[in-house]
Amino acid sequence: IIWTIADGWHDAAVVPYGPISLDPAASVLHYAQEIFEGLKAYRHADGSVWTFRPDMNALRLQRSAVRLALPQLPEEYFLESLRQLLAVDASWVPSAPETSLYLRPFMIASESFLGVRAAHKVDYRLIASPAGAYFHGGVTPVSIWLSTEYARAGRGGTGAAKTGGNYASSLLAQEDAYKQGCQQVLFLDSSEGKYLEELGGMNIFLVRHDGTLVTPSINGSILEGITRDSIIQLAKDRGHAVEERPIAIDEWRDGWASGEIVEAFACGTAAVVTPIAALKSKDFTIGDASTPAGEFTISIRQELTDIQYGRKPDHHDWMVRLA
Ligand code: PMP
Repeated sequence: IIWTIADGWHDAAVVPYGPISLDPAASVLHYAQEIFEGLKAYRHADGSVWTFRPDMNALRLQRSAVRLALPQLPEEYFLESLRQLLAVDASWVPSAPETSLYLRPFMIASESFLGVRAAHKVDYRLIASPAGAYFHGGVTPVSIWLSTEYARAGRGGTGAAKTGGNYASSLLAQEDAYKQGCQQVLFLDSSEGKYLEELGGMNIFLVRHDGTLVTPSINGSILEGITRDSIIQLAKDRGHAVEERPIAIDEWRDGWASGEIVEAFACGTAAVVTPIAALKSKDFTIGDASTPAGEFTISIRQELTDIQYGRKPDHHDWMVRLA
């Protein structure tokens, strides 16, 4: 799917997947003026195809657009692009358990202009890729590397937007994580280097022994995850207290050691909910890579995927039918 804008959105077209051509002076290549989203299409048992809270992705794409000085794609066009893609061939959505079609909408500044200013010509596109079960052989807890050298985002920066530059700045830290035998990187705030922010591509939650959930507040530098928001709502439905506030890394380290904090997990569209077994930094390692996933982590993952795959009632009206 491609939409272009010069004066208003026009030229909507579904074209075969393939390379796109850009002028070498296109702004996106030099100044990273681009934004994207990530969501999934799920096949239900009766064959119908659904997606999860796409209105939230449409709104987040609009907020990202504002921050990156790009035009806002109207929500109805966003939804229409998802439907148009699946109208071509809904069999792209796999039907094996826990599989989905990952949808990647993105907008790039395609104008050729070497001066540093917001582009006037942009393209909105949507591509898709079948996604297998993220975990083979059950949900596997991960070890995470605490990056004390690199920050992902700073105050007034683009951290709250879903834009490539944030990921560019996280790649080296993610490489460090792999070198340390960890699967994910955790970033701290850039001003004090003290408070949890998020992982390279996921938000984070801690669970206290009394069942209270604690997660970093939306502070302008972390991505406002849709999975994060959904987990907060489902946990509140179950009667859990949820605290959204700054969390010092020491609170986690000491709380895990003392038994005050009993579970930690990461969440996002791709992996849904990922248990965290260990946290490693230059100065300390806590937890143990062989720790199994906690009770809340397992059950909230189950609840969320049951809603997404249509196995349980969707009390919040989160699911939207695409095909
Ligand atoms: N933080 C970052 C940096 C991400 O890339 C993602 C994935 N979109 C998330 C958090 C989780 O967001 P969501 O639950 O909307 O997928």
